[in-house]
Amino acid sequence: RHSVRTFATCARRMAQPPSAHTIAVSQAQGVARGLTGAIGNTPLIRLNKLSEETGCEILGKAEFMNPGGSVKDRAALYVVKDAEERGLLRPGGTVVEGTAGNTGIGLAHVCRSRGYKLVIYMPNTQSQGKIDLLRLLGAEVYPVPAVAFENPENYNHQARRHAERLDNAVWTNQFDNIANRRAHVETTGPEIWYQTGGKVDAFTCATGTGGTLAGTTRYLKDVSGGRVKSFLADPPGSVLHSYFSSGGKLVERSGSSITEGIGQGRITDNLQPDVDLVDGSLHISDEKTIEMVYRCLDEEGLYLGASSTLNVVAAKEVAEKLGKGHTVVTVLCDGAYRYAERLFSRKWLTEKNLLAAIPEHLQKYIVL
Ligand code: PMP
Repeated sequence: RHSVRTFATCARRMAQPPSAHTIAVSQAQGVARGLTGAIGNTPLIRLNKLSEETGCEILGKAEFMNPGGSVKDRAALYVVKDAEERGLLRPGGTVVEGTAGNTGIGLAHVCRSRGYKLVIYMPNTQSQGKIDLLRLLGAEVYPVPAVAFENPENYNHQARRHAERLDNAVWTNQFDNIANRRAHVETTGPEIWYQTGGKVDAFTCATGTGGTLAGTTRYLKDVSGGRVKSFLADPPGSVLHSYFSSGGKLVERSGSSITEGIGQGRITDNLQPDVDLVDGSLHISDEKTIEMVYRCLDEEGLYLGASSTLNVVAAKEVAEKLGKGHTVVTVLCDGAYRYAERLFSRKWLTEKNLLAAIPEHLQKYIVL
């Protein structure tokens, strides 16, 4: 693993890949300074079967290898560092966030390693497993009634008010805090550019807060002079695909998806500055996403969550659109560990009407 700064510096200087000497020097400096030093610099994995099938290079950024197990570790570190730099968070302070998922886990790791308390608000519809995990990572967790964002009792507003009541506390506000997207401008983007030696034609990923898509797109567009194409991948129940394909109209949110952590009903502040840089969008059905969960496991040995495999489907479709010889990069956001009892359960798949989406020869993986 290399330091983030080394990657970013190399990528900035890069007309060509860094020399063997540069790599040797950065490896010699490869000791992570505490847990937060181990966030990022994840491998870029070639998905062999899909690459052969499409005649393209399809590459997945292995974000499941971050210490907290997801891409959100990067944003967690950046929102905490940003609060420190602004003087909003001093030693012994408290971070407050509204989240039901990976951001909370990332924040829990970052806060423990830097000596902050963490308070998490989440809708009370979330599983006991998630609450237990956050608590054992040291967070104080408040499950609150699952009400709409417009209602002042929504978990996000409760998180904000909690931080306001405390001294030396910050509401990190992942959706509209642009330190989130900066994590990807400064780390994910440069890493992809460095790891591909600048040979990347397209980037695609789904959006939750929009940090990953917007930040990575911004960097890759800037460094390539606009040559790298960027595509949004969107699940059912999100409005972004229709926003992009209708030339910017926001419709009411309706429908739902088996994916977690992605899909959006508005243009967040993280997405806003770069929304015009996105070249196109793809709507990916749950049928395609679930089939790819099983294909990635069977063909590549990759045990991936549904947002990751939605991204892989999108990368395959972008590759087919661009034609042979192109390189398409996407994000493997997290592993299947936290979703196994659903994704590999016959009962759940039947309830969701998704059993038929899994080819016969892959059904041997349905063991729960
Ligand atoms: N996949 C998973 C599993 C996530 O938890 C998230 C974050 N909610 C995303 C993808 C989307 O990332 P971002 O917030 O950067 O858009």
